[in-house]
Amino acid sequence: MRILVIEDEKKVANFVMQGLREENYEVEVAYDGEQGLEKALAGEFDGMILDLMLPKRDGISLLRELRGRGINTPVLILTAKGTTQDKIVGLDAGADDYLAKPFHFEELTARIRSLLRRSVSVEKTTQLKVGDLVLDTITHKAKRGTVEIDLTSREYDVLEYLMRNSNRILSRSVITQHVWNYNFATDSNLVDVYINRLRNKVDPPELPRLIRSIRGVGYIMREAEPGNNDFQED
Ligand code: CA
Repeated sequence: MRILVIEDEKKVANFVMQGLREENYEVEVAYDGEQGLEKALAGEFDGMILDLMLPKRDGISLLRELRGRGINTPVLILTAKGTTQDKIVGLDAGADDYLAKPFHFEELTARIRSLLRRSVSVEKTTQLKVGDLVLDTITHKAKRGTVEIDLTSREYDVLEYLMRNSNRILSRSVITQHVWNYNFATDSNLVDVYINRLRNKVDPPELPRLIRSIRGVGYIMREAEPGNNDFQED
């Protein structure tokens, strides 16, 4: 697996590079935004770690350019900018996940593993799976364990989008844009309404929760891992 690290702080870049190499990743480093964009466009990477405040070209504009050119390599933003607004801007620009500095290396590698799992599991398939939840994209039927779940067509759309993007943090506006195909006023609570309906159907209280809220940011669908409480939940 090849990872591109775009980070201008040499100390952080070297720390990340050495750590990832010890975990058997191939790592390349770019120390500014222009060099980063060039490498990202030229090379084949399985994942990217992107700092936001970079010389020559900032991380957000780099990411928008990449996504605009159809490059869908999973991107984890690593940044000292840790406010909710910064996270939303990053996610809306096309990032898949973020981690605020200072960070623990174990958390970084866990996030990377999760991103890479997602990118290799995106295949043409008629069944989407997250944990024991299965969604059939032809019959539009869902099943949690052995329990069949009926969905309205809009609930299906939301659930399908969440499941196709599992392990990825999705802001409310990204969900509205993809599911409803247009921009709602940002204060729209439509997404929350549908998420609540879905939770009542697919996340019964006695089972591990699959649809998780990230306070002030949005939602993530992921298989519950014991002891993993890396996100602040509502
Ligand atoms: Ca920086």
